[in-house]
Amino acid sequence: MSVVQSTSPQNPTDLVISVAEATESDVDRAVRRAREAQRTWAAASPAERSAALHAAAQAVAAATDELAALVVREVGKPRAEALGEVARSVAILRYYAQQVFDPIGALHEPSAGGHGLTYTRRRARGIAALITPWNFPLAIPLWKAAPALAFGNAALIKPAPQATACALRLAELVGSCLPDGLLAVLPGDAEAGQAVVAAGDVVSFTGSAAVGALVASAATRRGVATQCEMGGQNPAIVMPDVDVADTARQIAYAAFGYAGQKCTATKRVIIVGDPAGFTEALVAATEELRLGDPDDVATSVGPVIDRAARDRVLEAAASAKASGGRLLTGGCPGADEGWFVAPTLVDNLPADHLLLREEVFGPICAVSRAGSVAEAIEAANDVRYGLAASVFTTDLDTALRCADGLAAGQIKINAPTTGVDFYLPFGGERDSSFGQREQGKAPQEFYTSLHTVTTAVPPT
Ligand code: NAD
Repeated sequence: MSVVQSTSPQNPTDLVISVAEATESDVDRAVRRAREAQRTWAAASPAERSAALHAAAQAVAAATDELAALVVREVGKPRAEALGEVARSVAILRYYAQQVFDPIGALHEPSAGGHGLTYTRRRARGIAALITPWNFPLAIPLWKAAPALAFGNAALIKPAPQATACALRLAELVGSCLPDGLLAVLPGDAEAGQAVVAAGDVVSFTGSAAVGALVASAATRRGVATQCEMGGQNPAIVMPDVDVADTARQIAYAAFGYAGQKCTATKRVIIVGDPAGFTEALVAATEELRLGDPDDVATSVGPVIDRAARDRVLEAAASAKASGGRLLTGGCPGADEGWFVAPTLVDNLPADHLLLREEVFGPICAVSRAGSVAEAIEAANDVRYGLAASVFTTDLDTALRCADGLAAGQIKINAPTTGVDFYLPFGGERDSSFGQREQGKAPQEFYTSLHTVTTAVPPT
C-alpha cells in the first residue's frame, strides 16, 4: 500500500499526516457514490443547494483558527495570510451559494414564429475532477468545488500530497453539509491524479505548466471540458515617475510574501529610466521583510515547501552569479531549521538566463532595465507565460499603454501582481492557462452544458 505523507516545511521532522494513497478501486468507489449523489443533488431546488453551501461557509468560518493553524503547519504559509485564506474560502462559498439563483438560460424568438417556445438551459455536467496544488490549500479546492457544486455537480478533489491534511479537513467540514458522497478527497500524487482525471465529466487543474500540459492532453483526448491554470513569470514595470519607497515595498511583498510561492508572485522587475535610488529601495524593502517562523504574525516570508524547492532557488542564485549576474541580496539558506531561503534579488542577468525565462517557485526575483515603456512591454511579454503583470506609474497614458500591451490575464496598475479577487474572472495567456477562466461568473459556463429546446406549435 502506498502512503502519502506531508511534513511541516518549517519543521521537517513534524509529520502532519500519513494516509493511504487512493488506488484505482478507491477512485471507482468514489465515482459510483458521487454519481448517485449527483443525480439527486442536480434535481434539488436552488434554495436547497444554496442553503447547503451557506452551511458549509458557516462550518468553515467556525473552524477559522483551526484551519489557519493547519495551513501554517502543513504548507508554511505565514499566519496573517493563512487567516486571509480562510476568510476568502468562506467568501467563495457564500458567493457561489448565491450564484445558484442566477439565470440558467435564455428565451429566444420561436424559430417557426407564432407562440412556440424556444429556449436554452444549462445542465450540470456530472462529476467534476479537480486537481489542486499545495500553495492555496483551501482557497483553490474551493474556488473549483464551490461553483461545481453550486451548478449541480459532484466534486472529486485530488489535492497535492504536500497539502493532504488541509484538503481532508476541508472536505470533512464542507462535506458534512452536503449529501453523502457528493464531495470526496482522493489523496495521492500523479497516479491518483490520472485516475481522477480519467473519471471526470469536466476537469479543472491548477499546478505547474508541465503537469498541466499532461492533464490537458489526457482530458481533451476524452473530449471533456477542461481548464488548466498554471505557472507564471510575472513582470512588474517601474516607471521613473513613481513614489520610490512605496513602489519598492509593494513589489518586495509581491515577490517574496509567502516565499514567492504564488502563481502571481512578481518574478521580474523591469525598471524604466532608473528612478533615482529605486534599486537600493527595493533591496531595503526586501531586507525588511521578516523571514522566519510562519506562525509568528510578524513573518511575511516563511519557508519554501520542501528541500527540493529550496535547492532549486539556491541553484538558480548560484547560476545567476556564475553567469555574470549581481546578487543584490539573499542567495543563501535562512538561519533556522527547515526549508528557509533568504529573499533573493539578482541584477544584470543575461537575457537567456533561467530567472528571466522560467518560473522558479520560491523567493527569487530578477531585476532588469529598459530604455522606454515600449521596450519594457516587449521585455515583459518575452516569455512563454502570461499570468499577471503590473505597472507602476502616475502617468495615465503609460498605464493605458501597458494595459493594452501586456500579454497577461491579470493586469494591475499601481498594485502588486499578487492578489486575486474571487468575484473577478481569473486566468492567464499562453502557457499559463488552458481553457476558460475560473472564478467570478465564468464557472457557470464551464461546469454546465448548454441545451437548446425548440417547440413546434401545430398549425391551428
Ligand atoms: P504540480 O504541477 O507539481 O502539481 C499539481 C497537482 O497535480 C498535484 O495535485 C499533483 O499531485 C498533481 N499531479 C501530478 N502529476 C499528475 C498527473 N500526471 N496527472 C494528474 N495530476 C497530477 O504543482 P504544485 O507544485 O502542486 O504547485 C505549484 C505550481 O502551481 C506552480 O507552478 C504555480 O505557479 C502553480 N499555480 C498556479 C495557479 C494558477 O491559478 N495559475 C495557482 C496556484 C499555483
